[in-house]
Amino acid sequence: MEKKQFQAESKRLLEMMVHSIYSQKEIFLRELISNASDAIDKIYYKALTDENISFNQEDYFIKIVPNKEARTLTIQDTGIGMTKEELEDNLGVIAKSGSLAFKKEIDMQDGQEIIGQFGVGFYSSFMVADKVTVYTRSLYSDEGFKWESDGVEGYTIESYDKPEVGTEIVIQLKENADEENYDEFLDDYQLQNLIKKYSDFIRYPIKMDLTEKHPQEDNEEEMVEVTEEKTINSMVPIWRKNKQELNDEDYEGFYQEKRFGFDKPLSHLHISVDGMVRFQSILYIPEQLPFNYYSQDFEKGLELYSNGVLIMDKCADLLPDHFSFIRGIVDSEDLSLNISREILQQDRQVKLIAKNIEKKIKNHLQSMLKNDREKYETFYKTFGRQIKYGVYADFGANKDSLKDLLLFHSSSENKLVSLKEYVERMPEEQEHIYYATGESHERIEKLPQTELVKDKGYEILYFTDEVDEFAIRMLINYDDKDFKNVSSGDLDLEDEETKQEAEKQKEEHKDLLTEMKEILGDKVKDVRLSTRLKSHPVCLSAEGEVSIEMEKVLRQMPDNQNIEATKVLEINNKHDIFNALVHAHESDKEKVKLYTNILYNQALLIEGLPIEDPVALTNDMCKVMV
Ligand code: ADP
Ligand code: MG
Repeated sequence: MEKKQFQAESKRLLEMMVHSIYSQKEIFLRELISNASDAIDKIYYKALTDENISFNQEDYFIKIVPNKEARTLTIQDTGIGMTKEELEDNLGVIAKSGSLAFKKEIDMQDGQEIIGQFGVGFYSSFMVADKVTVYTRSLYSDEGFKWESDGVEGYTIESYDKPEVGTEIVIQLKENADEENYDEFLDDYQLQNLIKKYSDFIRYPIKMDLTEKHPQEDNEEEMVEVTEEKTINSMVPIWRKNKQELNDEDYEGFYQEKRFGFDKPLSHLHISVDGMVRFQSILYIPEQLPFNYYSQDFEKGLELYSNGVLIMDKCADLLPDHFSFIRGIVDSEDLSLNISREILQQDRQVKLIAKNIEKKIKNHLQSMLKNDREKYETFYKTFGRQIKYGVYADFGANKDSLKDLLLFHSSSENKLVSLKEYVERMPEEQEHIYYATGESHERIEKLPQTELVKDKGYEILYFTDEVDEFAIRMLINYDDKDFKNVSSGDLDLEDEETKQEAEKQKEEHKDLLTEMKEILGDKVKDVRLSTRLKSHPVCLSAEGEVSIEMEKVLRQMPDNQNIEATKVLEINNKHDIFNALVHAHESDKEKVKLYTNILYNQALLIEGLPIEDPVALTNDMCKVMV
């Protein structure tokens, strides 16, 4: 038996490995399985060029064997094995990768399948092990060897009689300590989970002997234990399969298997890109909102694989916020990984992939809107708000690419319409795109401000989502048509004659209007005769940047309590109440005050704004009655 010390640098590296490179202990299994897969791949690549080597797929597998009594976990493979020199080189020197050398030797192209490259993965086993023993025999040697190390001082090597080519790694698990439990690596169920999580798409079968209880054949009451060797991994990732070979059920199955949601996916996309950066991806639009979607703990992101091996559970950088509801996976052979293979070295590739994905999702939604309107509307009812946030967010950076995905309820169509549809059927003389805001369609229908616009025969978009108006303000216009809130002060829809008549009336009732304004003080900027009201007595309109609906939204946010719309009280001078006002103005100042206050409060109510002093209002109303 030969005893060897690790080199000084190796010792330090080993310390570091065990304590800081990996964020999770369970990663060790992924690393050892990756090595086993690499070892089998090497025979496969050799066989391609050496006719003396045969490669029968059935002979190659990886086996995981836990032993609870001995507290060992064995990872066995039928790969290429190691000679004594290779053992010393590859396992005796940390950060030396036999696999990297192999790739260079056979001059593999970029995008190779072999996973190893850093020469540190093996040592991750010391995160969970007191001792690691490697039994191996190389394809090129008649002799087998046993390598053993406690991971601290050094290792031993001795001859070992191993009949078959391949490698067996036995991990002596550490004892459980206060917070650390190593027993999970002996548990069949946990091991299966880990294999599924990290190594599901290793191309060779990963097997385990699993014991199940079955009722006995002749006596159903009695249970017998049956042990069977089972393959745990699915091997060929669904995203590597040909789209033509897959049907909706396959995609749904994968969605469920991955636990992307408890619902069914509404739609999926399968992408394979062979450009500046190569990647495959399967993306899903869920049917339902993830249960924690609007809570703090929701995390967006896609699963990221490098060559079929899971690197990240949720890579957030792959998805823009406005598509944060998308679930799915990305697999790329072009990622540069850091040494722990957990984080990306640089995000250039991820940025390229993310950009590509964003475009693909957008196009997918656009074609859904065009070809399957019903489905799109289902999508939009659930996730439309996110698209609107997308238009608004980042100072409108994405507004142009998202604007054609927007839908709003239309007054004339009584269904959701796109901005394009709205603009296409605008009458020639109509200059603006009109919208009205409110809590519900029913409430907006009753808004006095919509009367004139509707009378003109113009379509109005109903905004019931808080974000709607913010998004539209960010857009400013669509197809060169400005958006106009029907409640804004300057609707500018009246013909010349009406305008002149209005001017005349204004002059005539100047005193009354000034008096009303004085009664209301700072609550309104002005009191005016309305040109838009038809049957309603009063309404509020807003001047300037902040609309009344926006004021409502902003007030709910902690920092914006003081933001208010500049309000104007509009009075309908064709309504009977106006005559009453004029009459009161001539005879009874108290009545003017009473009426003005009631009318102002009515306008607030119609807008859905809070009444400042409900008691005063009810008292005023009683005064009118008696
Ligand atoms: P990497 O896989 O990045 O090269 P590792 O530390 O995981 O680094 O492994 C170091 C080297 O040890 C590998 O490159 C390979 O040459 C050798 N090796 C590890 N495990 C096995 C195995 N099961 N069969 C054959 N060779 C192995
Ligand atoms: Mg490795």
